Amino acid sequence: MGSPTGFIKHAREEAPKRPVSERVKDFAEVEQPLSEERLETQAARCMDCGIPYCHMVGCPVRNLVPDFNDMIYRHQWRRALELLHSRNNLPEITGRICPALCEASCTLSINQKAVTIRQIELQIVERGWKEGWIQPEPAAVKSGKRVAVIGSGPAGLVAAQQIARAGHDVVVFERDEHPGGILRYGIPDFKLEKRFIDRRLDQMRGEGVVFETGVEAGVDISARYLLRSFDAVLIAIGARAPRDLKIPGRDLKGVHQAMEFLTQQNRINEGVAVPEDRRISAAGKNIVVVGGGDTGADCIGVCRRQGAAEIQQIELLPQPPAGREADNPWPTWPRILRTSSSHEEGCARLWSIGAKEFVGDAQGRLKKLRCVRLDWSAPDASGRATFKEIPGSEFEIKAELALLAMGFVHPEHGPLVQDLALALDERGNIKVTPRLATSTEGVFACGDAVMGASLVVRAIDMGRTAAEAVNAHLAR
Ligand SMILES: Cc1cc2nc3c(=O)[nH]c(=O)nc-3n(C[C@H](O)[C@H](O)[C@H](O)COP(=O)(O)OP(=O)(O)OC[C@H]3O[C@@H](n4cnc5c(N)ncnc54)[C@H](O)[C@@H]3O)c2cc1C
Ligand code: SF4
Repeated sequence: MGSPTGFIKHAREEAPKRPVSERVKDFAEVEQPLSEERLETQAARCMDCGIPYCHMVGCPVRNLVPDFNDMIYRHQWRRALELLHSRNNLPEITGRICPALCEASCTLSINQKAVTIRQIELQIVERGWKEGWIQPEPAAVKSGKRVAVIGSGPAGLVAAQQIARAGHDVVVFERDEHPGGILRYGIPDFKLEKRFIDRRLDQMRGEGVVFETGVEAGVDISARYLLRSFDAVLIAIGARAPRDLKIPGRDLKGVHQAMEFLTQQNRINEGVAVPEDRRISAAGKNIVVVGGGDTGADCIGVCRRQGAAEIQQIELLPQPPAGREADNPWPTWPRILRTSSSHEEGCARLWSIGAKEFVGDAQGRLKKLRCVRLDWSAPDASGRATFKEIPGSEFEIKAELALLAMGFVHPEHGPLVQDLALALDERGNIKVTPRLATSTEGVFACGDAVMGASLVVRAIDMGRTAAEAVNAHLAR
């Protein structure tokens, strides 16, 4: 423990954000670093608890948080970087966009503000890149065995890196034009600039990982080819089948899935020219975002930057409380109201709202969304929370663009899943054993494709577990 009294002497200091008036004019990152001196002070707040809940309960990759906090307090940045990388292949990603499950279980957060763990993680790895400490780590000995990884989101990337470092030849097949999955074609640049993914991809290429992009496995290459040409196959295709809103008017022009919108803006930022007739633009429009979660918040930030008029976000569930309730104690994840940087940039948030009908004009263009207010006060007979519509509470939201951000149901059940004959679980995700083996010999799966839509840090953790399983399979 660096400083026994750090948590008494120092208050939590958040990393600064660029002012709203400036940041909404571009897609560059909102958050800025703390000075190293201030960050070292923040690390001194760590109490080095006997039982570090941040590490054991909170963080899915079990980052060694108290140890790296201590190292930062003692200015041992390079040692801290090695420790960080021993658990997490992509700390520059989690350091930017992880919801910091660790901080929710930080002991300090029982009655004070948690240690700024995510920010410390980010600045450790960024110092590593700046100093040139992060270089390719190719395997000393090659096995001659070949592994195909399908999908290059965080799960596939991390697994590919770990398998290559064990000496196997890895080819990552990706259907999009560049690797990264949702990191590249979902999460907006103002949360995660794509140059941070490219830097890590270069390291992986230096370790021998080959990326074959623009290749849809199951369509451009067959399942049979994969099974014949590789000693093991790892499926990391994400959970990309979106939940839809099947209400009247769904087919009107101006109603889109959130991912269509977010992906298009990320491609435009990359320099891709999108023809005007395919462009989904929020400029000058009234927007309704359906879904109160993080994807919805990302849509709000992009709409604001595109020059939207009014933005309203509606959510079926009631507004969460400002603080923890009795049935949601530390160190569990707090189910509380969260305000993202996009919300700060301006939008109305409406809770306990049901969407009834999209209404259009004679040309089939969206003009408004008919809604109804919901009453969640009475649980059903089994005690579960449920809602009923409040009679006479119908109202309309003016909207020329509606973005559906209601989550994802399961992975796509396309030719790859069918031709590999992969068994699915009751939710439609790929069924795996505890060692992530699928129902087909030599085929493994990981990430959202197995868990359902989740978080980057969980995809990283599962990618590492999958790599261990594949490496063990190849060592037989
Ligand atoms: C808009 C949005 C914002 C998010 N923000 C956050 C956040 O801030 N923090 C956080 O922790 N999590 C966030 N998430 C969740 C997080 O991005 C996912 O949990 C994570 O990306 C899952 O990783 P994955 O590798 O399993 O799948 P994905 O990232 O979905 O990658 C799967 C890849 O497989 C490819 N693929 C699919 N089928 C094939 C095929 N047949 N052949 C070849 N390639 C194929 C896809 O093109 C894709 O590149 C967000 C999700 C969304 C949608
Ligand atoms: S990966 Fe996420 S949960 Fe783990 S230490 Fe980093 S910010 Fe916390």
